[in-house]
Amino acid sequence: MSRIYAIFCILLFVSAGLFAQGTQESVNVYTHRHYEADAQLFEQFENETGISVNVVTAGADELIQRLSQEGELSSADILITADAGRLEYAKELGLLQKHNSEDIQSAVLPAYRDVEGYWTGLTIRGRVIVYDGAQDDGSQLSTYEALVDPSFADSLLVRSSANIYNQSLLASLIAHHGVGQAEAWASGMVRNMAREPQGNDRDQMKALVSGEGRYAIVNTYYVGLLQTSNDPFEREVGQRIRVFFPNQDGRGTHVNVSGAGITAHAPNRENAQKLLEYLVTEQSQEVFAKANFEYPVRNDVPLHPVVASWGTFKADELNLSSLGAFNTEAVKIFDKTGWK
Ligand code: FE
Repeated sequence: MSRIYAIFCILLFVSAGLFAQGTQESVNVYTHRHYEADAQLFEQFENETGISVNVVTAGADELIQRLSQEGELSSADILITADAGRLEYAKELGLLQKHNSEDIQSAVLPAYRDVEGYWTGLTIRGRVIVYDGAQDDGSQLSTYEALVDPSFADSLLVRSSANIYNQSLLASLIAHHGVGQAEAWASGMVRNMAREPQGNDRDQMKALVSGEGRYAIVNTYYVGLLQTSNDPFEREVGQRIRVFFPNQDGRGTHVNVSGAGITAHAPNRENAQKLLEYLVTEQSQEVFAKANFEYPVRNDVPLHPVVASWGTFKADELNLSSLGAFNTEAVKIFDKTGWK
């Protein structure tokens, strides 16, 4: 009897082993980021750990809605967005859980992660003013606020207010000046626009060198992507673009992060934490810098030479959770002031 039992145990052990071998370790990522750097990093992670990374790409609001609807049944382990405000919103909805990672705490500068550990920044980007160095010397520029001066009439190029980068910029103005002044600023910007908002950040810079306007508001990495593009026209546009960091005599230039959090019901929680930790390592931060010209979230990684060429700047130290807190108000102001 005991021999039969022993054989049974051995069979059970062997079959369990086979099953474990057949089970591929994985981590499921919902992401709003749309850059080549990310695909490169996910592949490297797969090769180094054997954990396969499955990616679903969509807009942040769509992904957040999907997470809410899926609830405990969601297969998502990680949510990545291109804006701290959306991560804060996901946290408030109870869609994220704490990562409890000492690696992340020690790697990522405190300003660029949630103090409670629900999300961490992966990269930093500035929203700057750019101009065409062949047509302008930028001496008229100072602050975001000053762009509403009548001397900037018909000169501003900026994308639609449906875009989260503009919503977060306006949210930062609400946080600093209140709703009234933020609304006056948005109206003034609309008045000084060279054309109705259209296209993405890169399109604003192309319009700039074709003479459609004199100043554009764009995220820093798009300057780098143009400056190093394989397309000769894009590269020429990039070479003519000059970066101006606004508000250097005051609070500093508006920055935002791309960031990530582990979902509340992550089925592969450990793998999710491993991937987050991987994305903030020195090597990964260098990939984000090299492939997408972003600023690192840790202070021991050198800037990419292209990024360094724009100069150093003081960043607005506003707590990034404010961007989420004032998002709804910002969208209302855009609608009211006719910023399309
Ligand atoms: Fe972007």
